[in-house]
Amino acid sequence: MKTRYFRYGLMTVITGLVLYLALGYGSRSFEAFCPFGGMESLWGLFTTSEFSCALGPLNLSMLVGLLILAIIAKKAFCGWACPIGFMGELLNFVSRKVWKKRPPVAPKVNGGMKLLRYVVLVLALIFTYKSGELILRGYDPFYVIFSGMGHGTVGLTSLIVLGAIIVGSFVVPMFFCRYLCPLSATFDPFSKLGLIKVVRNEDGCTNCGKCARVCPQGLEPDKAVKLSHRDCTNCFECVDSCPHKDVLTIQATY
Ligand code: SF4
Ligand code: SF4
Repeated sequence: MKTRYFRYGLMTVITGLVLYLALGYGSRSFEAFCPFGGMESLWGLFTTSEFSCALGPLNLSMLVGLLILAIIAKKAFCGWACPIGFMGELLNFVSRKVWKKRPPVAPKVNGGMKLLRYVVLVLALIFTYKSGELILRGYDPFYVIFSGMGHGTVGLTSLIVLGAIIVGSFVVPMFFCRYLCPLSATFDPFSKLGLIKVVRNEDGCTNCGKCARVCPQGLEPDKAVKLSHRDCTNCFECVDSCPHKDVLTIQATY
């Protein structure tokens, strides 16, 4: 619980800073801090040595920094800093009050739906590389929310997509992060290598399953010895939930 307060506090500060920029108080646009913009910049940089649209060196620096972070601490950015990840967790918190018992997503459906984020990644890159414009930003919750439906959004369609993501989050925790986020797809191979992870001491574990029930990503720390799954955000909700001391620990290990 203490970790969650600290995490939520950090994400509140970061979300507040993005909002501050979005309201026009900073010297840069909030878009300059989008790490996925670094991915979208690559083709333009290779072909014309110029950044596409509103993107710049800061986007690329953030991407490189976060890929290094993923090799060290898996998807910690998603669990400790991303405003959209934060909103996903808040929606998950609210939806837990609505559902008495949320129907589980079948593992095959869950696994299949996760492939959608690679489709989004490929489409976002193809559209940007072909046009030099951020064509999909009108469907990106980060842009739609913080730009206040600014230019590049597509009116009612943007609102419908945002609404569908919110409704989806009530059905499946972290709906956007799990199934649609192209940045999450970018992190995947790096996160799989991530050094810092949750480790379970099998001798002390009573297989109560509490850790799996609280995992916002639907992972199974109760079945792993070393939680290497690419989707782990190192949020440590599972560690905090375990009733036994030192059964789930955080270690730097391969
Ligand atoms: S396995 Fe644990 S640390 Fe990883 S995402 Fe799930 S709750 Fe968070
Ligand atoms: S909460 Fe702790 S004791 Fe229960 S299954 Fe998870 S690791 Fe084992």
